[in-house]
Amino acid sequence: MRNSRQWQLLVEGTVQGVGFRPFVARTAAQLGLAGEVCNTPHGVTIALEGSDEALAAFRRALESDPPPLARIQRIDCREESPTGLTGFQIRSSRGAGGGTLISPDIAPCAECLAELDDTDDRRHDYPFINCTNCGPRYSIIAGVPYDRPKTTMRAFMLCPACRTEYEDALDRRFHAQPNACAECGPKLEFVASSSREIGVSGNPLDDALSTLAEGRIVAIKGVGGYHLACDANDEAAVAELRRRKQRDEKPLAVMVGDLDAARALCHLSEAEARLLASPQRPIVLAHRRADAPIAAGVAPGNRNLGIMLPSSPLHHLLFSGSRVTGHGSRALVMTSGNISDEPIAYEDDEAFDRLKNIADAFLTHDRGIHVRIDDSIVREMDGAPLILRRARGFVPEPIHLSFELPPLFAAGADMKGALCVAAGRNAILSQHLGDLEHAAAARSLEETTQHLLTLFDVTPEIIACDLHPDYTSTRFAHLFSKRITNHESRITAVQHHHAHIASCMAENDLPNEPVIGIALDGTGLGIDGTIWGGELLVADYAGFTRAAHLAPVPMPGGDKAAREPWRMALAYAGETAADCFDGIPREQRDLVLQMLEKGINCPTTSSCGRLFDAVAALVGLRTVNAFEGQAAMEFEQICDEACDEAYGYAIENAQIHFAPMIEQIITDISSNTPQSIIAARFHNTLIEALTESCQRIRDGSRITNHESRVCFSGGCFQNARLAAGLEKKLEDQGFAVYTHALVPPNDGGIALGQAVVAAHRAAHIC
Ligand code: ZN
Ligand code: ZN
Ligand code: FE
Repeated sequence: MRNSRQWQLLVEGTVQGVGFRPFVARTAAQLGLAGEVCNTPHGVTIALEGSDEALAAFRRALESDPPPLARIQRIDCREESPTGLTGFQIRSSRGAGGGTLISPDIAPCAECLAELDDTDDRRHDYPFINCTNCGPRYSIIAGVPYDRPKTTMRAFMLCPACRTEYEDALDRRFHAQPNACAECGPKLEFVASSSREIGVSGNPLDDALSTLAEGRIVAIKGVGGYHLACDANDEAAVAELRRRKQRDEKPLAVMVGDLDAARALCHLSEAEARLLASPQRPIVLAHRRADAPIAAGVAPGNRNLGIMLPSSPLHHLLFSGSRVTGHGSRALVMTSGNISDEPIAYEDDEAFDRLKNIADAFLTHDRGIHVRIDDSIVREMDGAPLILRRARGFVPEPIHLSFELPPLFAAGADMKGALCVAAGRNAILSQHLGDLEHAAAARSLEETTQHLLTLFDVTPEIIACDLHPDYTSTRFAHLFSKRITNHESRITAVQHHHAHIASCMAENDLPNEPVIGIALDGTGLGIDGTIWGGELLVADYAGFTRAAHLAPVPMPGGDKAAREPWRMALAYAGETAADCFDGIPREQRDLVLQMLEKGINCPTTSSCGRLFDAVAALVGLRTVNAFEGQAAMEFEQICDEACDEAYGYAIENAQIHFAPMIEQIITDISSNTPQSIIAARFHNTLIEALTESCQRIRDGSRITNHESRVCFSGGCFQNARLAAGLEKKLEDQGFAVYTHALVPPNDGGIALGQAVVAAHRAAHIC
């Protein structure tokens, strides 16, 4: 065949450790192209020689049908003079790690699952089956380049059969670093916690299942850490798990075997079913069925249920047909292996130590977890996914930007710790680290920072953090800066709500032009030293002005007011509201009223989260939050769908006053208006007030009618009723609305915003 042309391609993105080179070799062979493919620090390089048609067909295949885990960001194609290449070679990796990207941990692919089920396959029922299209990645990688010795699989020697697959360029397991079989790979083990009397048969899986069927609690080692599992239909087991875990009311996640089982628990939309079955296998928050066969204690007072499908072959085996009928476990509670809000336990010794008083037994194995990573949580918003907790399956997939960032590190915020490491056009948001108030989470911030900087070969020139000097993340940023530079001059402190808006702009790849940013959340330090949280900013990446905000109210008792919504109700409604709270001792109510009157220990706040708290408490939904945002979450869920009425409000001097609304709500309460109607009217009022504020900002500023972009960010935008309602209303007024999808709207996404703001401030942008 005559080789008419030669192409040199450089493919950038997540293209290593995902079966990319075999795919290239196969495709080239099918099209009769000669050449070679090779991993480099920047991606994959491909040399091809052949006819015009074959080259064009190759490019089409690359663009339309790459391996499932590959994420191609850029293809650079140069034409060279033909050099008479023959055959096709896969060359081994060149150079060190550097710019290449690592794949997240991915649930078993269809081919692996078929083998797992196949009684004739040599990996039948093997709990660690994987291939280049699936399996653990980020959680087992200790360093770069991504090669077996740099993973926790280094302890296992490939047997001859596995080695043959590993070395065969056309095999599905070519260079699949975690490749293993029962002969040579990791093994399961079942261990009863000391002091518990549990029979051990020698088949770890059967032992775990029969222990679960007896209503006991088993700690199960998953992809990124230990879960605590129990039978989700067993009321007593669930109650016992809550007691031992010291988790009173927060919903527990449930794992089921397949989509049919998921549909028995929840009403699933098409989008939700797709999310559940996606290779990332997140926890999906879905609307639970009234008749869902599940213990009430799983998600008390919650109309939603967090459900997920098996995310590893081991999980699949817990649900495979024959076993389940034997033990009757159709749904398992699978909650993070920790006490309360600490980070998930992932190291074996640590897990045994921390969980031995919670779990009756452990289903564990000898494949190490290098990086702790929780389950991701996703919710469908208007047909599109919104990530609420970004972790397994999504991390470390980069957020691709249209501008170049200098090497940098952003420390994020405290409540939902997550950091960002960036260089070039990629920003890598770390996994959710938990509440940094906990020492273990704070340690995790330090370890994860170091790990991501090493993996992506980034030496930060800029370090960004929150404006709040007392955040653990802020302190760590200063410490870290000192450590690498001996001085702190490279630190940029970024205002909390500016970072929220910048993170939404960056995720939507918006240019550096002013937008109206609506940042609604619980708390964040403002530049005037007060607590902000109901902000309308006119912002670009470099700066912002506070164009409007909720009128500040006192927060009696400071942080205590966030845990006890009844305090906020008194702050908004005063004396009149005091009678609504019979459950709170009279003296306490009087004390808070006095604090308000005299302004003692009453920092002011414009927080939208606190407004939600106040109103939810007023209508009698709850006086105390068992976890962050609980009252607000329940308030959203009770909304009457059909009600389109609203209360009054006033906008004066760019401040939104809700006093008229509060008065009308109190009238509604005394006339026994249903909570669901009050909740709907409240949401509608908020939407109207924010829309009018945006119109006023547009009318009074240089933001033109044609280009009035609005960005939503902040934890309150986890509320679908608020987000969808506000988006629609704004679009009716000619605004273009941008929202989060793959970056959490809550503080888990804030490090991305810090990163882009700090880079623009330093004017390092190309
Ligand atoms: Zn596979
Ligand atoms: Zn083997
Ligand atoms: Fe926030």
